[in-house]
Amino acid sequence: MSRRPLALMLPIAALVSLACASTPAPDVAGGGASSPAPAVIERAVPPAGQETVGVGRVPAGGHGSTAETESGPVALELEITAMVDRLAPAAIDFLETIVEVNSGTMNPEGVREVGRLFETELAALGMQTRWIEMPSEVNRAGHLFAEIRGGDGPTILLIGHLDTVFEPDSPFQDWERLDTDLARGPGVSDMKGGDAVILLALQALHSAGRLDDLNVIVALLGDEEETGTPLTISRQHLVEAARRSDAALGFEGGVGGLQSATVARRGFTDWRLTVRGEQGHSSVIFNDRYGAGAAFEAARILTAFYDRLRGEDDLTFGAGILVGGTSVAYDGESNRGSAFGKTNVIPSEAVIAGDLRTLTHDQLARAKESMRQIVSENLPRTSAEIEFRDSYPPMAPEPRNLELLQELDRVSRDLGMGPITPVDPGKRGAADISFAAQYTAALGGLGVVGKGAHTPEETVDLSSIPVMAKRAAILISRLGGTNSD
Ligand SMILES: [Zn+2]
Repeated sequence: MSRRPLALMLPIAALVSLACASTPAPDVAGGGASSPAPAVIERAVPPAGQETVGVGRVPAGGHGSTAETESGPVALELEITAMVDRLAPAAIDFLETIVEVNSGTMNPEGVREVGRLFETELAALGMQTRWIEMPSEVNRAGHLFAEIRGGDGPTILLIGHLDTVFEPDSPFQDWERLDTDLARGPGVSDMKGGDAVILLALQALHSAGRLDDLNVIVALLGDEEETGTPLTISRQHLVEAARRSDAALGFEGGVGGLQSATVARRGFTDWRLTVRGEQGHSSVIFNDRYGAGAAFEAARILTAFYDRLRGEDDLTFGAGILVGGTSVAYDGESNRGSAFGKTNVIPSEAVIAGDLRTLTHDQLARAKESMRQIVSENLPRTSAEIEFRDSYPPMAPEPRNLELLQELDRVSRDLGMGPITPVDPGKRGAADISFAAQYTAALGGLGVVGKGAHTPEETVDLSSIPVMAKRAAILISRLGGTNSD
């Protein structure tokens, strides 16, 4: 064992008062009506002759407790949460600094600048940092990765993003403190606030002497809001990190407020249907020579999609744009199309583009198969083909994700912060954690509580920052187990 003597130098009572002093009540940060009942502080059963500790409890037989005395892990966790409280004001100042730097996805200099600010902070914790440039065809700034290897325990991957939807020409550029616990600014909750939670949790683990024992990878991507393509390049490093991780935690804001996390999200795939028919005078439509034409065939296919695929849980598909006639131009990049046709001419071509959202890979495969089948059942003298382009993969509700949720729930209850429940995956869009979830246990929605993401009314509840950072830090510490060098 090489663990440092942690908080053992400090009297536990001092730590307890430190940890309690600014621990927010569980409902202060926007949980609102959905907040849990007042937290019940679970108490460890103290060994004889030892004071009862008011916050923090290592679950019996839980991670990290085997080789430790009861007071060791409890004191460690108290020290970590106390450090979060001590370092939170600086983390909020740091958040202000990074919000003031414009990092719209298409502003690479700004994204890199925010990356450099994080790089400095993470390097100060002893992490190896590297900036990963994207090749020019991807046309994005790149990503910041940081890593610490502290032994042979599990590897935990922490995921955030540096970019925002607000480009330099947006009028919404500045941080504004509206109240003690409320700030407005571009990216305050989506997701520079979540990035600040990652940093604060790691700083607390470092200050408590715990980080050096852990294996942690931080991935701060530069293009989450408008992902660079091909995804095989822009998400390659994230996937590589996930492949060698035992758990991935995503710090985008939780839509379910303070007491929820995300175990599943739907992925999406774009599809494009191209239909062809015989052009001719409309007066001879439906005869053996000219058949049904492209418009009726396109309508048949869409109607069949509607009749035969609709209604399955967690599956949706949309037809976003239709163009048809005797000459058709469709540009998927700019989402524009044009067509020429006459009312007395059988149209020879139609293009329809849409999306397909599923919760699992299996559901995606079945939906594609059904759509291909429908597309192949052509009306007379027509043909059709459908192409699929997979974008964000589904994050399926795997049991390993639910186990991570249970672990977080236990952490939250132990900290007196109430239970954590899963968010309905139908309420979640696609996110970068989905790329990691294909390879490792994954849990998302661990970022700050905020409102108005992607609008000039974006705000963050600042009191959620230390709450989320405490949970994250203790979760990381417990997942990290006891390492030996
Ligand atoms: Zn966003």
